Amino acid sequence: MGMALATFPLRLVDGRRLERRYRDVLMPGGILCDKEGQARVLPRYFYEVTSWEQASDTYLAPHFAVSEFIHTDVREAPPLRVFPRYIPCATALLALALEQLREAVDSYVYVGANGGYCSPRHARTGGASPHCWGTAANIYRVGDTYLDSHETIAKYAAIAREVLPTVWTRPLGPEAWKTDDHLHLDLGYVVSVPREAPGETHDLKLAGDPL
Ligand SMILES: [Zn+2]
Repeated sequence: MGMALATFPLRLVDGRRLERRYRDVLMPGGILCDKEGQARVLPRYFYEVTSWEQASDTYLAPHFAVSEFIHTDVREAPPLRVFPRYIPCATALLALALEQLREAVDSYVYVGANGGYCSPRHARTGGASPHCWGTAANIYRVGDTYLDSHETIAKYAAIAREVLPTVWTRPLGPEAWKTDDHLHLDLGYVVSVPREAPGETHDLKLAGDPL
């Protein structure tokens, strides 16, 4: 037939094997504490993005390219402001969730600047934010509607919770941890380990029968 099989083009990398300047800012497998002081384990595996062109041409879901999730500004750590860039593997799961939302609203869903993946060293990261897991999105616009009022944010938050029953949406309000100019939704501290990722050290004593 001559039809090429679609293969995902981004290289999977073990963050712990990256150069030090990347390890320092990605903190692969490291710990961030949430606001209650609970330790959360950061992602270790990332996809490497080599250029804007590749980011725009590589889709994680039918309507969401990698580029949607890496719009950061000068607040991002310097090594991550130039290519290659890295996104946690779970960003692909976020894209699937946004695809569900897009289908429900039957329109475009726009992720804001600094509203996709942000590294643990991003200036806005104050603790364990799921943005550092690649599993959170700040949506500032749906179709022609800007999410800049309580009414519009609440409307789309309700739709998101309906189609994604386990999603978390940030409450409305003027306080710093709340939102009044976008819809933040996240899947929590999800860590994705693709099959081709190297495994952890195997302990026979702890191992059960293979599934
Ligand atoms: Zn957010």
